[in-house]
Amino acid sequence: MIIKKRLYSLLAHNTFGIDVEAELFVEFETEQELIELINEGLKPPVLVIGGGSNLLFMNNYSGTILHSRICDIQTVEENDSEVYLRVGSGVEWDTLVEYSIANGMQGLENLSAIPGEVGASAVQNVGAYGVEAGELIHSVEAISLSDATKKIFLQKECAFAYRNSIFKKEEKGKNVITYVTYHLRKKTEYRVAYGNMLPKVEALGGLSAKNIRTVICETRAEKLPSPSSLGSAGSFFMNPVVSATIAQKLKERYPDMPQYNTPDGGVKLSAGWLIEQCGWKGKQIGNVGTYPKQALVIVNHGGATGAEVLAFSHAICKSVKETFGIELHPEVNAIG
Ligand SMILES: Cc1cc2nc3c(=O)[nH]c(=O)nc-3n(C[C@H](O)[C@H](O)[C@H](O)COP(=O)(O)OP(=O)(O)OC[C@H]3O[C@@H](n4cnc5c(N)ncnc54)[C@H](O)[C@@H]3O)c2cc1C
Repeated sequence: MIIKKRLYSLLAHNTFGIDVEAELFVEFETEQELIELINEGLKPPVLVIGGGSNLLFMNNYSGTILHSRICDIQTVEENDSEVYLRVGSGVEWDTLVEYSIANGMQGLENLSAIPGEVGASAVQNVGAYGVEAGELIHSVEAISLSDATKKIFLQKECAFAYRNSIFKKEEKGKNVITYVTYHLRKKTEYRVAYGNMLPKVEALGGLSAKNIRTVICETRAEKLPSPSSLGSAGSFFMNPVVSATIAQKLKERYPDMPQYNTPDGGVKLSAGWLIEQCGWKGKQIGNVGTYPKQALVIVNHGGATGAEVLAFSHAICKSVKETFGIELHPEVNAIG
């Protein structure tokens, strides 16, 4: 069923809790309904959203906001060691993770408890605890907003990179993702090298996707604010990647600076650490602040506007640039 709402509040559709409204908010449950909507013509500009957990609305949205409610999960191919799962873009991400584990599949467990929906997992290439969704995505099905034709992007065409994909670059704003097919394993191949995950998982009775999920859900609940109690979009900035030469100079000056080598020879720095060193951890200005347990998370203490959040984020960028000479780039999508 197609649902259309005019002058519709987006408060429940953005985890930052910014109080704005959409001129037109449209939801659909099937690809066919989406095709009909595009062929009829949607009032521009059109923005596709999922759970709104990585969006920062600056103003009321003049135009159409489209939201997928395609929520089926189908096993399209399966053998003793692997399974291909085709999942509707409107399925809540953590529901998929839970479903996969309950059905004996592996791969998604490290991505437990990330807010949002399946469609955005391919846009954002969501990642946590040493795993990125893009590694497990076989293909992405999308309907073009310009002519309602169907396109299928195979994994190699998606250009997955750190919190990035073709859907944030060349294909930005051009498609509505309808299905994502994940290639999951049935074999035990867990990734638990991150931090002190392994002893915690072992303490629960040994290595299993279920125990990894339990540890990750508990760890995330300790470290990150729940969107239901404190508005945020998770990490506001991406971790900057610098050359090995710059990283070396920084290490000489700041021996405690955390640094991680990337496969392509760069060095990833911790944006949270840089922000914390500049004195921003737990700081509040007006309605906006950083989360006291994690400086990388900007929070809405209540009633903040998008402009206030953005001004706060700019102040953080400025002090990190002045202190370390490093440019921070937002992970969050500012709208408007
Ligand atoms: C507390 C908290 C913790 C978080 N932790 C993590 C984490 O550990 N790792 C991580 O990677 N992220 C994390 N995030 C960020 C966020 O959860 C992810 O970016 C998530 O993928 C966003 O999903 P969404 O459905 O809410 O997308 P939205 O925020 O609604 O949209 C994100 C982008 O995807 C596009 N999009 C959404 N759906 C579609 C579709 N069907 N078709 C085309 N384009 C679409 C939107 O236009 C937008 O550009 C966290 C956020 C919060 C609030």
